[in-house]
Amino acid sequence: MPTSRCRRGMKTGVAHKSYGVALPMNQGKLKKLLRLLPVWRWGLAYSLDRWIRELFEDGCLSTWQNAKSFPSCLSQRQWDSVSRQAKAALDSWLTNRQNDFRGIVASSTLDDALKHELHSINLRYAWYEHVDDEAHHMARRLMKHLRKRHRMPDLSKCRVMDMDGKIARVEDARNTKCERWAVVSTLESGKPIRVPIVADRKLDGNLFANDETLSNHLTIRFDPEGNPSGRLITTLPKAKARTQGETLGLDWGMDCMFALSDGRLLGTRMSDWLKQRDAELTELTRALQKSGIKPSRSRRYRNLQRRIRAHYRNEIGRLFNKLGRERVKEIVVERLDFRSQGLSHRMNRLLTRTGRAAVSAKLKRLQELDGIAVAEVNPAYTSQECSRCGYTARNNRQTRDLFRCECCGTTLHADINASRNILSRRSRRDGWRSIRKQEIVRMLNQEHADRCAHHGEHHVGDAQTSGAAPRRGKPHERDASAEVKIQTVS
Ligand SMILES: [Zn+2]
Repeated sequence: MPTSRCRRGMKTGVAHKSYGVALPMNQGKLKKLLRLLPVWRWGLAYSLDRWIRELFEDGCLSTWQNAKSFPSCLSQRQWDSVSRQAKAALDSWLTNRQNDFRGIVASSTLDDALKHELHSINLRYAWYEHVDDEAHHMARRLMKHLRKRHRMPDLSKCRVMDMDGKIARVEDARNTKCERWAVVSTLESGKPIRVPIVADRKLDGNLFANDETLSNHLTIRFDPEGNPSGRLITTLPKAKARTQGETLGLDWGMDCMFALSDGRLLGTRMSDWLKQRDAELTELTRALQKSGIKPSRSRRYRNLQRRIRAHYRNEIGRLFNKLGRERVKEIVVERLDFRSQGLSHRMNRLLTRTGRAAVSAKLKRLQELDGIAVAEVNPAYTSQECSRCGYTARNNRQTRDLFRCECCGTTLHADINASRNILSRRSRRDGWRSIRKQEIVRMLNQEHADRCAHHGEHHVGDAQTSGAAPRRGKPHERDASAEVKIQTVS
């Protein structure tokens, strides 16, 4: 029975969608919001500091922060929103550290009992619990190490104000210029401003057609030039888990964006586009450095970065939407890695940040809105393992794209081979997520040895002869050459 963790059937039955909206307000209103922003930011940093202290001192986080004693620069209602926004930032940082923690413990040489205790502490976010035993001491040391490597969120430069309905009530407008406005409290108490909201037609269409409900919540974001934009949130019931359809393994490809276990490569044109943009980015950086300008201060540089991010995000969205329309009931993925060897360090960093956020958001939406389950597995050795016979060796990966098994001669696109292995990891206990790499390769070798009479005889020279028909006594029946069939979709 497959036991890898899938997030099928979460407790709450509600999903959220968010829509970008324009906030075409006049200068007077804009000034009032821009005056609120630095106070809001200061409040975020203040609240976050309290949350962090609570975690360290009490060992756990409460769900709500009492703002009664907080400075009066913000109203109690504003503090509620500020405090929630700060908590959300901390939560997302903690979730990432929880993943790091799990990875370190899983790949350590600690004994199983201690590992188990550490995993259980980590699962409960209980690193700072007041318990004086070996596991808790170790958990705290590990967190100290992680905190050195990943700085806690810094909200003092945040340009986002996440306001709930108590301070930004969204209502139908009573004039004809726009359909909605938000009644937003600013720094002057008792004198809220009405911020006009212009939404996409899609929002109204969906509100009308589906059972989406508009939440009383407005997010205001300022770009570096101080121009505002907004987001509205709707809630809708989560989709029921699909019971029909395929289970697909998905690998983050090298030359394409994604490789699927059914043999498809998606987003093959992206690589060339990225290489061109990378060349532009590198050239522009060089020119800016020559004239002593910091890239982040150049509008051209920022625009180029924005363009790359937007294109990459849109492509990811488009490909996942496509998958959502297919007969798929489950997608099996590994931990995300968007780096590519042919690109600059700068570009890889940009893609990693953009891609990670876009893919996890998209996977969440596939689960909640399309009812497709998502399972995560450990990717160790999936690029060296043969998806047909299980033989695992570095030499199987002949070039970046070509996989050729030294045991059974299977020849496949390397990314497709990896995505098939990812799919089959799904049936391992917990997707082998809490097992060390060395242990994985040991088990793979053992399993292959049990099955294959030739094990132990493989060496580099084998690769040349293995393209021929299967040799006598080999347990692999199919002709390997039949496997080379790759369908390309872009
Ligand atoms: Zn093989």
